Amino acid sequence: MSLVKYREKREFSKTGEPEGKEKPAAGSVYAIQKHDASHLHWDLRLEFDGVLKSWAIPKEPPTMEGEKRLAVQTEDHPVEYAKFQGEIPKGEYGAGSVEIWDSGTFRTIERTEEKLLVDIKGKKLTGPYYLVRFPNAGPKSWLFFKKKAQS
Ligand code: MN
Repeated sequence: MSLVKYREKREFSKTGEPEGKEKPAAGSVYAIQKHDASHLHWDLRLEFDGVLKSWAIPKEPPTMEGEKRLAVQTEDHPVEYAKFQGEIPKGEYGAGSVEIWDSGTFRTIERTEEKLLVDIKGKKLTGPYYLVRFPNAGPKSWLFFKKKAQS
């Protein structure tokens, strides 16, 4: 997919973030980065179609059933971004500190335009998680939550 928006927002001579030239790694990359920018948030990254689909989550991501989080979709990021942590300089897009909060892999169980169900294998997040479109909160809004165990 396209990294045009990602690149438009950044000055790569000034920020240490990857420009996105490397070939994507095999497998499905999962990561969440804690991003202390103008507003603290957590960036969820899931590898689809050769890029990281990305969502900004304003509260700490849910580790247990029953917690729902708003997740606002942001621009696609290069796959190697999952390994980025450090400082984005003042004045640059997303200025502030980025640290890897969780990482691992995932497997897709279901994927439609409206809904994603993924089995996450991270350290903090494990098991099946839903991302479901939540148009009431705007066109880029999704809800992110852990699937309830079958009873
Ligand atoms: Mn961010």
